[in-house]
Amino acid sequence: MNKKKYDFIIYALVFIFVFVSIIYAGKFNAFGKLIMGIEYKTFDIRQNIILPHKENNKNIVIIAVDDQSYEYITEKFGTWPVPRGFWAKLINGLEQANPKFIAFDLLFTKRLGALDEGDLKLVRAVEKNQNVYLSMNFDNYPSQVRIPPILPENLKINLKNGDIIKKSPLLNFYNCRNAMNELLDVTSNFGFINVTRDDDGIIRYIAPLFYYKDGYYPNLTTLIALKYLNIDPDSIYVNKDTLVLNDKYKIPLNPDGRAIINWYGKEGTFEHVSLWQVDDAINNNDIKFLKEKFENKIIYIGTTVTALADIKSTPVSFMYPGVETHATFLNNILDNNFITHFSFKADLIISAILCFLIGICVLRIESVAYSVIFSVLIISVYLFITVLLMDFFNIWLGIVLPVLSAVLIFIAAYIAKYLLKSKDYEHTYKLAVTDGLTEMYNHRYFQEQMIMNVGNVSRYGGNFSLILIDIDFFKKFNDKHGHQSGDAVLRQVAQTIKKNIRTCDIPCRYGGEEMSIILANTAKEDAITVARKVWSAIRERKFELADGNWANVTISVGVATMPDNGKSPQELIEYADKCLYKAKQNGRDQVVSEID
Ligand code: GH3
Ligand code: MG
Ligand code: MG
Repeated sequence: MNKKKYDFIIYALVFIFVFVSIIYAGKFNAFGKLIMGIEYKTFDIRQNIILPHKENNKNIVIIAVDDQSYEYITEKFGTWPVPRGFWAKLINGLEQANPKFIAFDLLFTKRLGALDEGDLKLVRAVEKNQNVYLSMNFDNYPSQVRIPPILPENLKINLKNGDIIKKSPLLNFYNCRNAMNELLDVTSNFGFINVTRDDDGIIRYIAPLFYYKDGYYPNLTTLIALKYLNIDPDSIYVNKDTLVLNDKYKIPLNPDGRAIINWYGKEGTFEHVSLWQVDDAINNNDIKFLKEKFENKIIYIGTTVTALADIKSTPVSFMYPGVETHATFLNNILDNNFITHFSFKADLIISAILCFLIGICVLRIESVAYSVIFSVLIISVYLFITVLLMDFFNIWLGIVLPVLSAVLIFIAAYIAKYLLKSKDYEHTYKLAVTDGLTEMYNHRYFQEQMIMNVGNVSRYGGNFSLILIDIDFFKKFNDKHGHQSGDAVLRQVAQTIKKNIRTCDIPCRYGGEEMSIILANTAKEDAITVARKVWSAIRERKFELADGNWANVTISVGVATMPDNGKSPQELIEYADKCLYKAKQNGRDQVVSEID
């Protein structure tokens, strides 16, 4: 196989291995949760980066039960919650300013025993003003603790195709903290105010609808939005993963039926008017103040004081009032400003593209520094794109999985690159020291080894031997059988030599049909033994020729040993050569180890 193809296959395998490992690891809950946890943080960072470009709806105003109002109320009434007559007076007072809606992010729960005068006043105020919206909360308390109430039919929404909500464990409840029955008798303006938190306690999602017992119920804000937009609650439906309010207003849903909140700013982004100031204005009949603040506005009333615990952690602030979360959700609906989180599949495709680009970078760019710079650049560009997409297109593209796989591919590709390179280097080195025909070491390597062995013996003492081999009458052999057969014999002689020496002995092609063996740490006697072994192995075997015939050859062998026969490579080669000459003189086919 050609080398490029081979390398390509190795890289492709590395690529697939890393990729499959990541997907596989993602299937493990703990790892998936870890990835998602970090992904949430990248979402938070992106939300904070794009905050300056956001503008909230100025028609949404919050009447805040803030620290001062809490003080004001406990001063005045000596208790929290305040008698409900207070809220009746507030509603009636606010109505003078003609607000669009008054929404209570406060619960008016069932009374034990008889209603007091305040309760009745509240019921009457709510009955009279159909722009007042109240809230309830679902939960999953056991029926032994509280019998799940049957809610009035008119609170239900006739949602079509709502399975995504019904099947979501986060949104399907079996108990409810009921409101005062007398309020339920006079209004159907009840919405639900449940919130859901992620594993890190932060609120990033909101449920537009819930499922309870046998029907769908709206979030308080969904209900207000529908009324504000003049949409019949019974006309809305779910289409795949979108809650369709009408042709224009659509809420993208996660697979768990919730929508992602798009934040406008830190706490206090929506205008807060202190409850005590409103009460004071009503007491003083300050219609001007009330009109200025609330005319045509959507009013949310809720607590922002820490002591009352309705404080949430959000991507933009750790101390975000629950009531402002509702304001944000309403603002999202009115602006059609929801974020879509692209699916895991999209993450995988992006990961593959990033990995491909990074892979190319590592393989194509020789310089480590440049390939690091380019890889970092690719990842940075991707991060920048994800911020732009969230800012301008409300798209949440995954960051953690793509970047993690890109980094892993970078490391894996580098390891593969260096392993292949070192293999290449080994191959080149082998080529540089090997003789092509016989696959023995070549003359250059022979010279190096001679110098090294002479160096070792002169420094540390001991000895080493050199055997020179020359094939007898090889010129004639060539003439008789042809050059091809000569080459075949050379190869077979080389094999025979290799077979009859130890692995630490170094067989070389000295030149032409002359070969040599360097034997480290070997005295003369032992070298002669080796020489004889090789000599007899050659003379005893038959050699196959190019034409399929067989023939015999013999060799003449000379042996020299350091320090006895010389102290330099030249002296030793000369000595061995003289032995060889002597062997030729004496009739060839023999081993000679001494000259006269
Ligand atoms: P002798 O050594 O016994 O004195 O006789 P010889 O014929 O072998 O003499 P010499 O060593 O001087 O000749 C070497 C011959 O080996 C010359 C050449 O034809 C042959 N020879 C050298 N290298 C190769 C080779 O790579 N392939 C083949 N086929 N023959 C080679
Ligand atoms: Mg020769
Ligand atoms: Mg010869």
